[in-house]
Amino acid sequence: MSSTSHRVFRFAPSPNGHLHLGHALSALLNVEAAERLGGTAFLRVENIDEARCTANLEQDLYEDLEWIGYPLVAPILRQSERFEAYRSALVRLEEMGLVYRAYLTRAEIKRAVGEAEARGIVWPRDPDGAPLYPRDTAVLTDEEIRRRRDKDAPYALRLDMAGAVARAGADLSWQEAGSEGTALEDAPERIMAEPAQWGDVILARKDTPTSYHLSVVVDDAEQGITDVLRGTDLYAATSVHRLLQRLLDLPEPIYRHHRLILGEDGRKLSKSARDTSLRMLRAEGVCVSDIRRLVGLG
Ligand code: GLU
Repeated sequence: MSSTSHRVFRFAPSPNGHLHLGHALSALLNVEAAERLGGTAFLRVENIDEARCTANLEQDLYEDLEWIGYPLVAPILRQSERFEAYRSALVRLEEMGLVYRAYLTRAEIKRAVGEAEARGIVWPRDPDGAPLYPRDTAVLTDEEIRRRRDKDAPYALRLDMAGAVARAGADLSWQEAGSEGTALEDAPERIMAEPAQWGDVILARKDTPTSYHLSVVVDDAEQGITDVLRGTDLYAATSVHRLLQRLLDLPEPIYRHHRLILGEDGRKLSKSARDTSLRMLRAEGVCVSDIRRLVGLG
């Protein structure tokens, strides 16, 4: 990408709780990077989980963002309005033969993995620590799989990772650049993608036509995002995103992963930790310059 092209950033929160200091850091870094590199910072509302992402929380999200000075530049993309686009992407992957119905329930996965581990097998885990999906055929009889298919039992649509990697090629990588201050101008480094470490990731479910991984790549392309700047908790997920971009012929953004704000217990902040929510801090009289200082932006 040429350094003179118009740069497009995005902040992409899920309104399933209130924004906290970690979100403030992400939002502020995005708007400042867009300013510094001469570009735009859009907002994307990641509300595919319609049960947990309520209208009230979305309203509060807009208020919190206005308060910290994140510009609400139109168009704001709301994922709940984009299910058709996700469906088309899923159909393309299905047509490549890379998607299958997986019927194992969470409890069945847990049991199968537990039994294997009890036999001394080291079960592979993804970068978030979750066990990789055991194929249905390794756990259920053919008859049981047929029975579930016939009664249209709940299922997840999973990516056949081995097939996807074979199709995408082994040379898959992404560009990672600095996220703060002068590091923003650094030339990106090439990182080898390792999507296989995630196993057969979920792309959609019987009743939900998409997943985080699928919607994020479809929408980064739709919004013309040139620079994805987000927390390091999503660093490893970039491998899956690059894989889907390659399979779906989507453009490759530059990635930047920023430090996380940790709570007093040393753990990543969560939306249920009310003490660091921006609304709570504002109600206590904290001002925006204090927020900047609290997230280390001085
Ligand atoms: N919606 C995700 C979150 O709130 C961020 C997605 C992304 O930046 O790729 O953690």
